Amino acid sequence: MGLATALPAGGGRGPGALELGGLLEDLVRVHRPARPLGSVPASIPHLAGVDFSRFGIAVATVSGEVFSAGDAALPFSIQSISKVFSLALALGHDGGGGLWQRVLREPSGTAFNSLVQLEAEGGIPRNPFINAGALVVTDHLIEAFGDASGEVLRLLASPSGRCSVNEEAFASELARSERNFALAHFLADLGNLRNPADAVVRHYVRQCSVEMSCADVARAGLFLANDGVGPAGRVVSPSVAKRIGAVMLTCGMYDAAGEFAYRVGLPSKSGVGGGILAIVPGVCAICVWSPRLDAHGNSLAGTSALAELTDRTGWSIF
Ligand code: GLN
Repeated sequence: MGLATALPAGGGRGPGALELGGLLEDLVRVHRPARPLGSVPASIPHLAGVDFSRFGIAVATVSGEVFSAGDAALPFSIQSISKVFSLALALGHDGGGGLWQRVLREPSGTAFNSLVQLEAEGGIPRNPFINAGALVVTDHLIEAFGDASGEVLRLLASPSGRCSVNEEAFASELARSERNFALAHFLADLGNLRNPADAVVRHYVRQCSVEMSCADVARAGLFLANDGVGPAGRVVSPSVAKRIGAVMLTCGMYDAAGEFAYRVGLPSKSGVGGGILAIVPGVCAICVWSPRLDAHGNSLAGTSALAELTDRTGWSIF
């Protein structure tokens, strides 16, 4: 099979199908953690027990193939990766219907769950990927659909049929959601929440507690690499897909967005379950998972594997 036909690659670069399979196996060998370096999220006791040596990676291409290696078929807690899908739903529903008056599109420079910035900036979160912004998106989805988390689950499951809430993780996080409740109450106090804080936090935590495999997350995120069209059909318009990519690039890795753009160079979204969804526009969606985190809440091994992958394939938007 000719390399160019095996896999479309950005700017004529990138591996063919055969090389990609081998490359992913290489990444597993090199980046699967041998020691429990890094942290687990303190606010989600359930995640502390995940084996530190887990490492999976999957690539879903716009031509419909899925390549994977390591623990790519094991479900993991997607956490904040879900924020990309809730934003897509909100923007896909009615063009956002006023959402961008309630949340900005700027990097935060602060931790994903920071309270300080929200108060200082009058209750308008910096972007939809920090927790405060995601709570506003959830509030918007409750108005649009009623069952906000159910709708996010339906979108996540649309390509594979596989996606479920881990009820134990949900209960474990909800019981430790003081910060998210504080953010929601701040938003309400500052006039930026329309539904009861309790309902908004529950829907938000529920979408974070979804478990999926790397392969299924890559398939679910493929619409972002393919002008808004996923394996199950159109999710958003080409222009909305482009804009979600821009917000991922500038805000998807929280206050490590600059460092991550420097090392990896792809619009991406992380979750404290250790997953990262990365988009190569026009080519593929990549999901990598390894549970131990750096100080910003991004997967340590996942980030280094993506840095090597983009170096070796030339897949970068730069
Ligand atoms: N559910 C987590 C929280 O709200 C999600 C955070 C994340 O993945 N960065 O704290």
